[in-house]
Formats: sequence, structure tokens, C-alpha cells
Amino acid sequence: MGTAPGQDSPRIEQLSSIRADGSRLAIHPADVRGRFITRRRVVFAVLIAIYVALPLVEVGGHPAVHLDVAARRFYLFGGTYNAQDFWRVLFLLTSVGFSLLFFTAWLGRVWCGWACPQTVFLEGAYRPIERFFDGPRERRLKVAGLPWTFARVGRAGLKHGAYAVVSLLISHAALSLFVSAGGLVSMVAEGPTVSPVAFGWAMAVTGALYFNFAWFREQLCVVVCPYGRLQSVMQDRNSLIIGYDTKRGEPRGRMLKVKSGEVAPPRGDCVDCRRCVVVCPTGIDIRNGLQMDCLACAQCVDACDEVMDKVGRPRGLIRYDSLNGLAGETRRVFRPRLVLYGALMVAAVAGLVLSLVGRVPFEANLLRFQGTPYLVENGTVRNQFELHLVNKNPGETTFSIRVDSPVPAQVVVPQTEVRLASLESFRVPLFITVPLDRGSGPFVFTVEVADSASGEVKRMEARFLGPAGG
Ligand code: SF4
Ligand code: SF4
Repeated sequence: MGTAPGQDSPRIEQLSSIRADGSRLAIHPADVRGRFITRRRVVFAVLIAIYVALPLVEVGGHPAVHLDVAARRFYLFGGTYNAQDFWRVLFLLTSVGFSLLFFTAWLGRVWCGWACPQTVFLEGAYRPIERFFDGPRERRLKVAGLPWTFARVGRAGLKHGAYAVVSLLISHAALSLFVSAGGLVSMVAEGPTVSPVAFGWAMAVTGALYFNFAWFREQLCVVVCPYGRLQSVMQDRNSLIIGYDTKRGEPRGRMLKVKSGEVAPPRGDCVDCRRCVVVCPTGIDIRNGLQMDCLACAQCVDACDEVMDKVGRPRGLIRYDSLNGLAGETRRVFRPRLVLYGALMVAAVAGLVLSLVGRVPFEANLLRFQGTPYLVENGTVRNQFELHLVNKNPGETTFSIRVDSPVPAQVVVPQTEVRLASLESFRVPLFITVPLDRGSGPFVFTVEVADSASGEVKRMEARFLGPAGG
């Protein structure tokens, strides 16, 4: 049950791929040609290439994406992060969330039809395999009703073997995001007994992918995916959807041949060929109005445009438009909902960008030794600190430490130069001692840490404490 945008009351929707008794109705979408499927295939190829390239291409000496969860080291497009940077994920999540709201209110389910991994892998990899082994829709439908022969079993075995190989490749590409491409090659070479956890994850993901793409398919979108269920909340009558122009298309019917001199009864542009239905990956008839099963894949647009070309009518009987546009009303792009979502998205993205731009590629924190704040001995007062350094540069660096005191003091830093590898940390003790008569009161001194890799300098002020107060 759902309420489509623009509807006031809920209506009962029967899923197109599930019979009334709850059993699954297999969907065999027909092949389609046209401008949108061509563009989508290019987008799928680019997205799959990016997915494969992320762990392979190096930026700043590390993979573009390497999420080393076990060591809490994260390399993202040349930036190096550790667990202390986790708060930035808050900005990332809010940016993604508000972007999804904004683009859904504006462009409808463009994500589902063009960029969702479910669509990209299904249409970009698994469907072509099915087409290669089982042929076009007509042959698939015909074969589905035939008894299992030796040849059919062999073909099905090869097809499912190809599904399994693609699932293995996708899951291993995902695993390499966490263990790096080099790490993955080593793990594969060493065998599963050396890395049983990684092997278990890879097999579990492979199994889930195989189940999903070989069998579950559109059910993930129409039954499981929460984003699809929330469409009616996020969209309104001005959101871009794929819709059928009822005014232009109805009354539908086959084209009538008339004898010369006779006048054909008035007919809409829809010739009721059902091409839009047979190409639909979720099996719906878009002429029944906007439905939650619609993934906005535009296959029905291409199919209908092809039909309109053949019958000599203008394209666009099924098209990208809004509910208002399809009803012949003006589509308002700028509306309060879109402005609000847009403002929230810009604020979240700005927060993310600022948190990344303002980031210093190292950490330096000066902490007072726990226990006594100062020590008086042999006519002197001593304060003890610890300088905690973390190198967040993608490569090695050297930290130079300098201490400036406003009063003459003996400063002891065992190491004024510290060389650290990427994401390595080190604690440097720091002792500052002044004669009792001169330094018994509190004063502020400065510790300066210079990072050779980035050229950044961090200055920290600390309070020297003595018996005179503080
Ligand atoms: S493809 Fe176009 S003409 Fe054919 S049934 Fe669908 S809407 Fe009508
Ligand atoms: S109705 Fe059209 S746009 Fe929607 S899922 Fe089916 S083919 Fe794709």
C-alpha cells in the first residue's frame, strides 16, 4: 500500500512481480534501444571502472581508497585519517542524506535508474550474461516452459558459473578496499587458511551477490530497499518522474485502417503495443500511473519513442516530466521544499569541505604528566609534560620541536627531531626547570612543532606551575 505523490488517499498496490497468492512472477525484460539506454550503459561502464580503479590507482603513495579498519587507518584520495577523524563522517553522512533528499525532490529516482549499484551491476554485468546464454526475451520465455534437457542444463550451468565469477570479482574488489589490492593478491596467493576472516567475508559477500543478482533481482528494489518505499514522502507533483501522457495517449488502441473516404474514429497516440510493459525490469505498466515499483530506468521511454517513430507520431508519450507537467500544468522547479533541502545540503557539504580543508596533516598535543603538577628540588621547580605526535601525512615526515620560555629555563627534550612513518605516533617527554626564586610563579611558555612534509607549524601554549600559585 502506498500514496503516490499528489494523491490524497492511500491506494492498494499489487506488486507486479508477485502474484496474488504471494508466489514470484519471473520477469524477462525485453531488450531495448534508444538514447537513454545508450547513455545509461556509458554511465554503468564509467561507474564500474571507478569501482575497480579505487583500490588500484594510487594517490599520494596510497590507494585512492583503502579502509584499513583493523589498524584504524583510512586513506581517501590522498588524505590520511585515523580514528580521531571519525567525527568528519558525521558531515559526510549528513551531506549524503541531504543530497539524497534534494536530488529526489528535484529529479525523482534518478539514483535508482542511473547510479544505484543494484542497477549498475544488474544491467551492466548480469543481464548481458543472461542475454548471451539465454538469448532475447522471446527465447527466454519459450525455454522457461520447456522440460530440462542436457543442453539446457549445460547452458544454465555455464550462465550461473559466469554469475558466480562476476560475483567473486565484485566481492574481491570490495575486499581490496579494506585490505588494499596488494594485500588481496597476497591473501589469495597464501590461501584461505592464512586469512580465514577475510576469506569468510569474501565468500559471504559473493554468496549474497550471487543470490541477489541471479535470482532476487528487482525484489530488492520493490520489497527490501527503504529508499524506494520513501519516495512518496520525498517527492511532490513537481518532482521529475517518468510518466505516461494520458491526455495524449488515450483512448489507446491499435491503429485503424480506413477505406478511402471514411473517417477514422478519434484515437489517442498509444497503439497499445505493450512494448513499454515488456521492457520494464519490474514488470509494471507505466500507463496505470506512477507506481512505487518504477525505478525510473527510462527503458519504457526508449521503447515508446521507438514505437512513436515507427507510427509517425511525436516522441515523448512516455517521458521524463512531473505529475504537473503530465497534467498540462506548469512545473515549478523552485519551491519551498527544494530550497530547504538545498540549503541543508549546501550547509552539510560546506561543513564537510571546511573540516577537510582546515585539517592539519599531523596531531601534536601537549599533556601534563599525571600526578604532582610540579616538583621542587635543589632550589629549582620542574614541570613535566608529554608531547603526543601523530603523522597523518601520506608518507614519512620529520617533526622539529622547539620550546620558547619567557623566563630563563632549562628545557630538556630527549628528541627535538622525530621521524615518523605515515600514521605512526610517538610520545616525547618534555621537562622544563627554572630556579625557585625566578620561576615559582605561573607563566605561559610555547611549544612549537614543525612538520617537514607539509610545512605546517603548530604552536601550543602551556602553563608552567610553581609554588607561588597557578
Ligand atoms: S509503448 Fe507507447 S504506444 Fe506502446 S503501449 Fe506503451 S505507451 Fe502505448
Ligand atoms: S515503468 Fe519505465 S521507468 Fe519505470 S521501471 Fe518500468 S521501464 Fe523503468
